[in-house]
Amino acid sequence: MATPPVPRRRYLRAVKPWLWWPLILMLMYWIAAWSWGQPFMAMPRTTWELARLPPPAALPVPVEGVRAARIADTFGAPRGKDRTHAGVDIFARRGTPVLSATRGIVVSVREGGLGGRQVWVLGPARERHYYAHLQDWQPGLQAGDVVGPGMQLGTVGTTGNARGTPPHLHYGIYGADGAYDPLPLLQAYALQASPR
Ligand SMILES: [Zn+2]
Repeated sequence: MATPPVPRRRYLRAVKPWLWWPLILMLMYWIAAWSWGQPFMAMPRTTWELARLPPPAALPVPVEGVRAARIADTFGAPRGKDRTHAGVDIFARRGTPVLSATRGIVVSVREGGLGGRQVWVLGPARERHYYAHLQDWQPGLQAGDVVGPGMQLGTVGTTGNARGTPPHLHYGIYGADGAYDPLPLLQAYALQASPR
């Protein structure tokens, strides 16, 4: 015996609620795609983009007007009894602009410890860039800000354990394996900018 045919109307009633789903999914997709491009999504979008970038091979000196050739290689030099120098010191007149070396997201603007007034920037390949001993922060700078190379973060000073020393920026880069020497990157950038 053949099964009786399902009345057409009942079939439609059963299927109707499901017809909305493709439309709802398309709308959700469209809203997500649209908001990804909006200013309020700049931070998550930049975090995603930065994580996919390779670590930089060359970086500009993050203090205005200072040439890489003038920076002493003091990375790894002993500091006190149980520390080594985890960055380079870039000397300049007090108040000289400190500029972000990379594109990135400001993750911390704080004062304390050895670094004194400091800014931490999450940069390409999720490396963290540390700018310390600042005289002052750039007004309005706060965690969550998206910065580009050359954007001012603050000014050179002597805060933290730099008190009593000539004003300088302590600049450090922390990769997946900890701090490494930023100076070769600064020198590489100088070579690119003025090849001989
Ligand atoms: Zn230092």
